[in-house]
Amino acid sequence: LFLSFEGIDGSGKSTQARRLAESLRAGGRDVVLTREPGGSPGAEEIRALVLQGDPDRWSAETELLLFTAARRDHLERTIRPALDAGKVVICDRFADSTRMYQGLSRGDLRAKVDALHDLMIATEPDLTLLIDMDPAAALSRAKARATEEERFEDFGIGLQERMRAGFLALAAEFSDRFRVIDGNRGEADVARDVAAAIAPHLP
Ligand code: C5P
Repeated sequence: LFLSFEGIDGSGKSTQARRLAESLRAGGRDVVLTREPGGSPGAEEIRALVLQGDPDRWSAETELLLFTAARRDHLERTIRPALDAGKVVICDRFADSTRMYQGLSRGDLRAKVDALHDLMIATEPDLTLLIDMDPAAALSRAKARATEEERFEDFGIGLQERMRAGFLALAAEFSDRFRVIDGNRGEADVARDVAAAIAPHLP
């Protein structure tokens, strides 16, 4: 079973991904919790190339290629082997984040994103949990924990709002696999809804 968590920066998706992994493990399941960009040694190296240093180092297109290369490595080295071994894979961001960030934040690159995805990734999660949250609240959370070494995509509230709307549009586009969860609540309430959403899909 391949699960992904998506949402804007500060939406709490990483916390929810971790909580879900812990509760499934407590129930005796074999779980691989992983993240993007990164999730395999090679992809983590690419993460450092993209998220550290000068944000203008790469053009929008080159950045898309780097994210796609990282995802391909992550898929080959981490995700596929775990799925083949019958494990539950929980991925903190996957291709939907590229549809949003590389696809929308620096011009409209969605056609290129889709072409590269079809050519090199061609894999979707069985279920995607979108943690939907108020953009201003999420932004202040993300700012509070932003580190100096890693770039944080602070294009301000405008981008945060566009990304939120974009994720909701993606959820409508891929409504068969998306579940939208209201993230404007306490961690435990959100976690309960996440557990309910995945329960029917557990093998
Ligand atoms: O999810 P996480 O906080 O680790 O993401 C790190 C940064 O990388 C965030 O600012 C996020 O917006 C950005 N990102 C991106 N494109 C992706 C995935 C993440 O620009 N495909």
